[in-house]
Amino acid sequence: EKRISGLEGDAKIGKKEAREKAVEMLNLVSIPSPKERLKSYAHEFSGGMRQRVMIAIALSCNPSLLIADEPTTALDVTIQAQFLDLLNDMMNKFNMSMLYITHDLFVIGQICHEVAVMYASNIVEHTSTANLFKNPLHPYTQGLIKSIPNSKQQKKLLDPIKGVVCSLLSPPPGCKFHPRCSKTMDICYREEPVLLEVESGHLVSCHLYN
Ligand code: SF4
Repeated sequence: EKRISGLEGDAKIGKKEAREKAVEMLNLVSIPSPKERLKSYAHEFSGGMRQRVMIAIALSCNPSLLIADEPTTALDVTIQAQFLDLLNDMMNKFNMSMLYITHDLFVIGQICHEVAVMYASNIVEHTSTANLFKNPLHPYTQGLIKSIPNSKQQKKLLDPIKGVVCSLLSPPPGCKFHPRCSKTMDICYREEPVLLEVESGHLVSCHLYN
């Protein structure tokens, strides 16, 4: 296991050593001329560079788990691809796990090994990424995957999920997805489904599989 030296635990380091470490971390995330850039203000960096600096800051604590919440939202597609490569690289280099929070299924396909799909604050499906795209079981996941733009599709219009996300202050009774689901049954109006393993390593919260 490889770790960044000198930053274990809450060890105190001097100002000079801290500067050297900061330069090392900026170098690690491919910021050009890191020694000079140490004096730059945040607004003097591009969006992609700012994200890389954030990764450098997060890695400085030697985490075994990195939580990345929508880190590519403000980036264009090319910079996003570079940033995802960097994250992958860091995970392998430092034997680190990552919890990646996103609405972007394309990004999930690129970077995640496992996916937990959430609807109205609950996990509704959990499986490997490959299996999720091959065999989505929950109607919400099926709707999400159907709404991805596909260049092979002949249809001109996308196929969105009808309706809007329910209010979390007064959610509907039973399954929270029932007002938007095309497979609603009587039980869905009354009982909230629980997350069950319906096949090996594949958990779904839906009465269709109970
Ligand atoms: Fe649809 Fe019922 Fe499954 Fe909820 S429990 S997703 S309403 S079929």
